[in-house]
Amino acid sequence: MTQLQSNGKKMSILEERGNNLTIVVPCYNEEAVVEETTRQLSIILDKLSGEHLIGEGSRILYVNDGSQDRTWELIEMLMKKNKYVTGIKFSRNFGHQDALIAGLTVAKEHADMTITIDADLQDDVNAIPKMVQDYAEGKDVVYGVRNNRETDTWFKRTTAKLFYRLMAGFGVKMVPNHADFRLLSRRAMVGLLKYKEENLFLRGIVPLVGYPSSKVYYARKS
Ligand code: UDP
Ligand code: MG
Repeated sequence: MTQLQSNGKKMSILEERGNNLTIVVPCYNEEAVVEETTRQLSIILDKLSGEHLIGEGSRILYVNDGSQDRTWELIEMLMKKNKYVTGIKFSRNFGHQDALIAGLTVAKEHADMTITIDADLQDDVNAIPKMVQDYAEGKDVVYGVRNNRETDTWFKRTTAKLFYRLMAGFGVKMVPNHADFRLLSRRAMVGLLKYKEENLFLRGIVPLVGYPSSKVYYARKS
C-alpha cells in the first residue's frame, strides 16, 4: 500500500470514530510539575492537531485528587491561559485509581479517545503520537509498555515478575511492564466503566474489555 493510500485509510477511520483526544492526568500534590507538564503536553497537542490527527476539541483534563499544596490554584491559572487545560477537583484524596476513573467518566462525554498519564511525566510523552497513530489504524486500546526494566534493581525486577505470575494465577490477564499510561477509544472507556467494582484496578480490567489492542514501547525515566 502506498503512503498516500494508508494515510487516506487512517483519515477515514479518524472521521468515522472521531478524533478528539483528552489526556487525563491525575494529580496529588503536583505543584512542582504541573506547569512543565502542561507545557510539554501542549507541544504534543499542537503537533498532533497540526497534522489533523486530533480534533479541535482535544483537551488536557487534570483531576486534582485532594491535593494539599497549590496544585489546584495552578490548574485554575492554567485553565485561564491555555486553551487545552480543563480540570476537576475532589474535595479529599481518593487515590490514583479513583482519580483515573473520575477522569475517564468525565472525558467520555466529549472525547473520542483518552490517554491517561501520570503528572510527573515519568512516562515518555513522545509515545503519545504513536498511540494516536495506532488509534487511527483502528485500535481501541494502546498500552504504553516500558522497555527498560534492566535499570531497575534485582529486587524490583524479581518482585515485579512474581506479581505478574501471581496475578496470572488468579486469572487476571495483565500486560507486563505496563502501568496506567494508555490510550482508550470511547467504546473501550464505556466498556471499562461498566465494571462497577469498589476497588477497580484498571490494569487488571482493561484487557478484559476485549477490543483490538496494541503496544507502544518507551523508556521510563527513573
Ligand atoms: N496520584 C493521585 N492520587 C494519589 C496518589 C497519586 O491522583 O493519592 C497521582 C499522582 O499525582 C501521579 C499518579 O497518580 O500523577 C501516580 O502517582 P505517583 O507518581 O505517586 O506513583 P508512582 O510513580 O510512584 O507509581
Ligand atoms: Mg510517579
